[in-house]
Amino acid sequence: MDEQAVCRLREAHTVVYEPALVDDAPELLRRAVQADALVVRNRTQVRGPLLDALGRCRVVARLGVGLDNIDVASCEARGMVVIPATGANALSVAEYVIATAMLLLRGAYASTDEVTAGRWPRAALSHGREAAGKTLGLVGFGYIGQLTARLAHAIGMHVIAYDPMLAGDGAPLGLSGVKRVDLDALVGDADVISLHVPLADSTRGLFGAERLAQMKTGAVLINTARGGIVDEAALAAALKGGLLGGAAIDVFDSEPQPAQAHWAGCPNLVLTPHIAGVTTESNERVSHFIADQLLKVLL
Ligand code: NAD
Repeated sequence: MDEQAVCRLREAHTVVYEPALVDDAPELLRRAVQADALVVRNRTQVRGPLLDALGRCRVVARLGVGLDNIDVASCEARGMVVIPATGANALSVAEYVIATAMLLLRGAYASTDEVTAGRWPRAALSHGREAAGKTLGLVGFGYIGQLTARLAHAIGMHVIAYDPMLAGDGAPLGLSGVKRVDLDALVGDADVISLHVPLADSTRGLFGAERLAQMKTGAVLINTARGGIVDEAALAAALKGGLLGGAAIDVFDSEPQPAQAHWAGCPNLVLTPHIAGVTTESNERVSHFIADQLLKVLL
């Protein structure tokens, strides 16, 4: 949590700020017993023994969005409010998506070592693609999906979106020019597919081998949503087999991600350690948003 946001909380309450507690389960449980509020990121599992220890807790705040690490129903049944930092890191994720989409379509930015060594891979890198005129397919059209659509429009991309939970054509953010389609149409038409759905029963395994095979040859897949939505081994095989043109994966089945043989040798692949939503600016926004909410709830 941003230090200044922690200081604001300290002015009104007793605060235990220990980012390493997530890796010390006994100490976390011991501290939890005294807590009126708990603030977590995405690694602390707020369920089972931790929930049982939170006997006097009234609020669980999440420094980010995506509540798959929190048993929200059980929290609410125990009278706790669960507060995500909805929207506060959306811009960071949207910029990551546009940056990786352009990088992967162009396929031309990994030549530093060769150029440094005096080789000149100009012919090999002369077949990159522009983003303008390409179709971006957004699976999930909430805060991040809609912000990504705005940025994509600005660079001349067509945007289509699939989100069965959003009513009507209009988007809550008043965005126009985004065609709403079903998932099969999106997968078949998009040059770049970016995932912005929560991890839930309806999204687990959504992009398995079969769905990946339905993507356009040479299309690019970006997953900043959650591990478990894309079958990682099937994606690696699709990249190596030349079916897909590239992928950026920020979230994994298992985090931290252990060494994985299936990624080795995949062409045009960007792997990042769950940082799409984490920037200096978003950390400040997320932290102050959560501090504001806590100060209201803990009056
Ligand atoms: P949001 O709640 O605003 O939007 C999610 C959208 O997904 C909603 O509009 C919902 O209707 C839709 N949806 C739900 N189930 C669906 C399904 N089966 N098919 C299609 N659409 C479905 O959330 P958001 O702020 O846009 O964030 C989206 C996800 O991104 C979060 O749940 C989180 O897991 C992930 N996230 C990752 C990072 C990161 O650093 N990598 C940062 C922030 C968020």
